[in-house]
Parts: sequence; C-alpha cells; structure tokens
Amino acid sequence: MQEAPPLPGEDTMYHAFLSREAAYEGIFVAAVRSTGIFCRPTCPARKPLRANVEYFPRAGDALAAGYRPCRRCRPLDAADSVPDWLRPLLEAADADPARRWTTEDLRGAGVDPARARRWFQARYGMTFLGYLRARRLGQAFSRIREGAGVAESAMEADFDSVSGFCEALRRATGRSPGGARERHALRVAQTPSPLGPLMVAGDEEAVYLVEFWDRRLLEKQFAALEKRLGAVFFPGETDPVRRMRGELAAYFAGELRQFTTPLRYPGSPHQEQVWRALTAVPYGTTCTYGELARQTGRRAAARAVARAVGENRLAVVLPCHRVVGADGRLTGYGGGLWRKRYLLALEGGHEPGGV
Ligand SMILES: [Zn+2]
Repeated sequence: MQEAPPLPGEDTMYHAFLSREAAYEGIFVAAVRSTGIFCRPTCPARKPLRANVEYFPRAGDALAAGYRPCRRCRPLDAADSVPDWLRPLLEAADADPARRWTTEDLRGAGVDPARARRWFQARYGMTFLGYLRARRLGQAFSRIREGAGVAESAMEADFDSVSGFCEALRRATGRSPGGARERHALRVAQTPSPLGPLMVAGDEEAVYLVEFWDRRLLEKQFAALEKRLGAVFFPGETDPVRRMRGELAAYFAGELRQFTTPLRYPGSPHQEQVWRALTAVPYGTTCTYGELARQTGRRAAARAVARAVGENRLAVVLPCHRVVGADGRLTGYGGGLWRKRYLLALEGGHEPGGV
C-alpha cells in the first residue's frame, strides 16, 4: 500500500466526526477502540467519547489495524467514486434525462431508496430526485440563455407546466426566467483528491473555481462569482470541468506539471494581476510574497498581494501553495497548512506522507 496521506488535526477531525461533516468524507475514517469498529465521518450512529477514537487516513489503514467496517455507514464503499450499486441507476438517468423517477423505479432498479438518499445527501446535500431535478433545471436554464423560448424549455425539461417550471427556476435562481437570460450558469462537480474532495465549477468555455469542500471561504467564493458574473450554480459537468478533473487526477499522481484547461478568474484589476503572476511560478519552486509584489510592480504592496493570493479561487491550479514567507516559512494557506505541505512535497518529488 502507498504511504498514507496526511491527516488534519485531531480537534478538527473529532469535531467533523461529531457534526457528521460530509466535507471530510475521504479524508479520514474514525475507529472506535471500545467497539473495534471504524466509521466514515458522516456515520449516523451515536458518536463515542473522544478518548475512544483513533483516526486513519483510509479505510484500508483501519482494516490493517484490526478494525471492522461499520454496517451503518459502510466505510469500504469508496466515498470518492460512484459505487457499483449506484452506477446502473445513474447511467439510466443519463440515458433518459426526462424520466421522472419514483421510489418504486429505484426499487425496480435494485436500489434501496433510503441508501440512495443517504448517498446523495452526503455528496450533494440533496436527494437523488432533487439532484435529477436540479440537473434538468440546469439544462433547461442553459437553453434559455441560448435563446430558446421559455415554454419550449419547460417542455424539454419535462416540468408539469410552464408555471411550474418558472416557479422551480425562480426558487433555484431567485429570479424569473425572464431575468435568467443575463445570468451565467456554472456546473459544479466534485472530484476526489488525496487531500479530500475538490469542487470544480465551470461553463462550456472554462473553469472558474477549484476549491476544497471544507474550506470556509467556499461560500464567499460562490458569492463572489455570483456577484461578479451573475452566476448561478447547478450540479453537473461541462467539457472544461471534465478535463480539469482529469488534470487534477494526473497532477496528484505526479504525472502533470502544467494545467492546460482554459481558466477564468474575474476579479479586481489588482487581483487579476496577482493571480496571473501566480501562473508564472514554476512547478516544484516557491516564491515569496515580496517577490510576487515586485513582479506585479507593486513593491510596497506585499500585504495587498498576500490578500489577493488568499482570495485565489483556483486552488492547486493557480499555485498559491508555492508562495512562502520571506524567511522561507510556509505561513498561511486557506486550505490548511497540512495541504500546503503535502502539495509542496508532491512537487518536490518527496513522499507526501512523510511530511
Ligand atoms: Zn458507522
């Protein structure tokens, strides 16, 4: 087995375990000494005392330490990939996007509706039916932007009626379809990484956001894109999103040094200047905030540069992890210092598990 990825601090993990935070799926499993059982962070079972819990980065590590998988949260079902039991259902849903699924249909397809509900709740914070509905809505929304009539889009989206469609769209976007034309639909997909799941958002042209799910800034990043672009977000994928997910996988496997998926990072002139300068910091190297400030021609503005670096919306891809303090120390990182250490070790050709 490969060297284990790093873990967040114990306080963070115990808190995440207590509050069942889905963002920590794939980052750790919690093993309970008194019962000999290990769980996902989101396990619905009653949580044990802190002193009884130990943590492992992967289910395999907990198994190797002699723990048994919990029957309620099934930590051996990979959190980051579509499980086998769900795949036929997703394929059927893709093949017939207009189909309206009932819980009977799910049972007919051999899927336990309660299990499907749990899986989609943990991953997207919505039910399976809610997910399909949001996706249909997103497809219809794109057509509106492309100029299709509202009624036609409503039919294609298979909503009961035009008024029902308008109501659903208004709830999802806070506006009527008339106003949707000016808004910008971004699809959001999750992708696994050794540092926990990443969110990737983009349209048909480019990727706008790559961010860790548990990062506190995430909501602000969404709000900033919403404000700057009039963006609305739907679950799903576009070609650039798919391409970025592939590039991220290759990067984490140590096989990719330069991302080539088209990017957009709309911001203030100062932010855009700093973010562009980040793209020039080569793989496997670091630079200081002061050097970055000099490159952007703002010698005195290292603090303003540091702030713009922290507001980077394209984690990993625009390499803010390569910026260090003047004395070479790692200083802050929005996604947590443990992630910054991991990324620098990966790029330096070191075994990330050893840092
Ligand atoms: Zn469990």
